[in-house]
Amino acid sequence: MTVDLTKRIQDLRETIPPHVRLIAVTKTVSVEKIREAYAAGVRDFGENKIQEALAKQEELQDLDDICWHFIGHLQSNKVKLALTHFDWIHTCDRAKIAERLDRLSAELKMTPPNVLLQVKPLPDPNKYGWTIPDLLTALPTLDQYQNLKIQGLMTILPFTESPDEMRTGFEKVRDLAQEIAEKKYSHLVMKELSMGMSADYAIAIEAGATMIRLGRTIFGERPA
Ligand SMILES: *Cc1c(COP(=O)(O)O)cnc(C)c1O
Repeated sequence: MTVDLTKRIQDLRETIPPHVRLIAVTKTVSVEKIREAYAAGVRDFGENKIQEALAKQEELQDLDDICWHFIGHLQSNKVKLALTHFDWIHTCDRAKIAERLDRLSAELKMTPPNVLLQVKPLPDPNKYGWTIPDLLTALPTLDQYQNLKIQGLMTILPFTESPDEMRTGFEKVRDLAQEIAEKKYSHLVMKELSMGMSADYAIAIEAGATMIRLGRTIFGERPA
């Protein structure tokens, strides 16, 4: 056991309010380290590549109360694997993927999967996700997807070192969730906000995050 990792997780827990779910992001992290994090009490793990995740899940089958979160860009030919291997899909980022998730979830006769809608609150050409106007337009269609449990919003902010910009971005997402909730759609629940990574999670929590996704803060720097 790395004393370091256990201690880091314990220290983190103490700074995070109890209602915020800590997701340990384990891309490039070995199954040994995942086991250590598990032993330190972590049950939520996030991966961003389907193949890498499946290989690790195979080796970790004995840890059967892990909740797996898919946080990577979802290609349409991987939707089925994402549905069958993850408890939460954070990155429903376009209409086509939402439609496919709904259809395949029905075909597989699954319990409707937990889905978050990935939104871009600030102009950012490099990131996936709905712009706010596009998401607002898509809502009536999304609300008709009976085979999905849409639970809230997810965001990855464009890189910035400015805490003010981070706050502005996260607050836009929080306000958008509030606005959507007030529209009283029947299938769109807006109770989760997946926002905040190692560089900005403290600000995300202040802005209302219910899930934070931490990689480097827990496991150290990733290989380049
Ligand atoms: C890698 C990743 C994270 C974690 O990033 P860190 O900076 O290591 O905390 C969070 N969310 C997503 C979508 C990621 O790809």
